[in-house]
Amino acid sequence: ERQKNIRNFSIVAHIDHGKSTIADRILELTHTVTAREMQDQLLDSMELERERGITIKMNSVELHYDAEDGETYIFHLIDTPGHVDFQYEVSRALAAGEGAVLVVDAAQGVEAQTLSNVYLALDNDLEIVPLINKIDLPAAQPEVVREEIEDVIGIDASEAVLASAKQGIGIQELLEQVVKTVPAPDGELDAPLKALIFDSAYDPYRGVVLTVRVREGVVKVGDKIKMMHSGAEYEVTEVGVNSPKPVAREFLGAGDVGYITASIKDIKSTQSGDTITLANNPASEPLEGYRQMTPMVYSGLYPTDNAKFTDLREALEKLQLNDAALEFEPETSQALGFGFRTGFLGLLHMDVIQERLEREFDLDLITTAPSVTYHVTKTDGEQVDVSNPAEMPEVSAIRYIEEPYVHASIMVPNDYVGTVMELAQRKRGEFDTMDYIDAARVNVKYYMPLSEIIFDFFDKLKSGTRGYASLDYEPAGYRQSDLVTIDILLNSQKIDALSFIVHRDFAAERGRIITGKLKNIIPRQNFEIPVQAAIGAKIIARTNIKAYRKDVTSKIHTGDPDRRAKLLDKQKRGKARMKSVGTVDVPQEAFMAVLKTD
Ligand code: GDP
Ligand code: MG
Repeated sequence: ERQKNIRNFSIVAHIDHGKSTIADRILELTHTVTAREMQDQLLDSMELERERGITIKMNSVELHYDAEDGETYIFHLIDTPGHVDFQYEVSRALAAGEGAVLVVDAAQGVEAQTLSNVYLALDNDLEIVPLINKIDLPAAQPEVVREEIEDVIGIDASEAVLASAKQGIGIQELLEQVVKTVPAPDGELDAPLKALIFDSAYDPYRGVVLTVRVREGVVKVGDKIKMMHSGAEYEVTEVGVNSPKPVAREFLGAGDVGYITASIKDIKSTQSGDTITLANNPASEPLEGYRQMTPMVYSGLYPTDNAKFTDLREALEKLQLNDAALEFEPETSQALGFGFRTGFLGLLHMDVIQERLEREFDLDLITTAPSVTYHVTKTDGEQVDVSNPAEMPEVSAIRYIEEPYVHASIMVPNDYVGTVMELAQRKRGEFDTMDYIDAARVNVKYYMPLSEIIFDFFDKLKSGTRGYASLDYEPAGYRQSDLVTIDILLNSQKIDALSFIVHRDFAAERGRIITGKLKNIIPRQNFEIPVQAAIGAKIIARTNIKAYRKDVTSKIHTGDPDRRAKLLDKQKRGKARMKSVGTVDVPQEAFMAVLKTD
């Protein structure tokens, strides 16, 4: 039967442990791409992924493997991102297969996202094929890592593949293990169609391209398909697989991973997690969809040119297809005009969305400072959710405010435990537990306010531990905190888009830091501009931007012409993203100044 030679699996790991490079080696070994077409991290096809050297989107590809048992197997491999912000991608990728290759760096060992990815895989009842990568590194300790996988994760690693994706070692062995360990998909070919949409993208020519895992039945060109949740119906124009370029097929059947197009222009009727069936022979029940993600952080997105508001909405709708965790709703700002309050899973996600909107949709945007969602109980008993600091009720109307907490897990070498604890404490962390991973590393857990963790905890953690610490976190409810809203006044005018919320203990310091930063960021104009930070009517910090603009490069005390050119270039781009707020020109950078706490 055709399914017995199909294997569907994802590659998961902590960031940088080598997932995309292993995918490269698999593509080569199976001759899926020619030597001429080959390039590093081939599946990272988005420009932004290549520039930053990270995987942002999952990518599925079909390949054919001639195994040692003489059979040819069809693999559907999905490469996934490793960063905590993109875990939603990983969870949807995992739901499309029967197995997961778990990659662990032989020099780094088990890290925070190694664990979270394993838990996702186990939640999906997947078979796990462990692989220890980078054994070519002088610092590699494959045997120590093997023990870590067994002790910390609790899976059998005695057969773990020892590999070097860089040198092409262990790849064949990996594929043999996939054949043996990952079960073939099941599902009846003659049952009514059930295909799960796990990703999609908008293509201006083909309309919405749906990436699906077919669970039951068959779908082919000309079929009338129906989305079981939205009820929308379409006629299939093409089905196929990515290999890695799209290759049309006659049909997709139970067990296959591939794409469907049906000239779909109406974006809203095709959501990830929906089940596709046939209109005239429908399945009775849809497949289990995905848990809706709650964004961790919100910020306002505004076009620098107010006339581009509708373009921004269309762009967000199209991008939402390709990024199921993105949320947005319209909002207005006195300072910035019409825009959208947009929800993200973290700051990297926010950054990526902004970049994609600018590149893929040719928009110039102002992004306001990110904020978590606060639960506010007012004196009249009403409860409101506030994710835009400008909408925080008057102090006198607030009974109490609760803020989101997370349970954070920090893996770090023993030598840095002191540093980590000090940092966590400074960020209002409450110590939970500390466990040994092996003789030299520990896993420290803290309860921390989400706002402290997403704002600059990670950067500080990395720099304080020479890059050795890894961090993962999950929501841990809400707690009451003594929080205040700090407003910023430029030229005595309150700029709503610059307001932010902090713990009262940090208010004075933050007020001082932010006014200082704004003073440096906002270009001088031909009049003096007072910059003030205030809580209600009380000014807590102030400074002045002196009149007259100076050549900014004269401040760059560097002989390095490269650096000078870079700064000039940055300045130019920054200027393009300037917004006139009342009488003052405010560059994009100013809205992000609150993120830097020193
Ligand atoms: P991903 O984030 O898990 O997808 O990791 P990548 O595949 O992008 O690899 C991260 C970095 O590790 C890149 O610089 C790779 O060249 C490097 N790398 C991957 N595999 C190996 C390996 O086996 N040995 C060595 N020395 N470096 C590797
Ligand atoms: Mg990658």
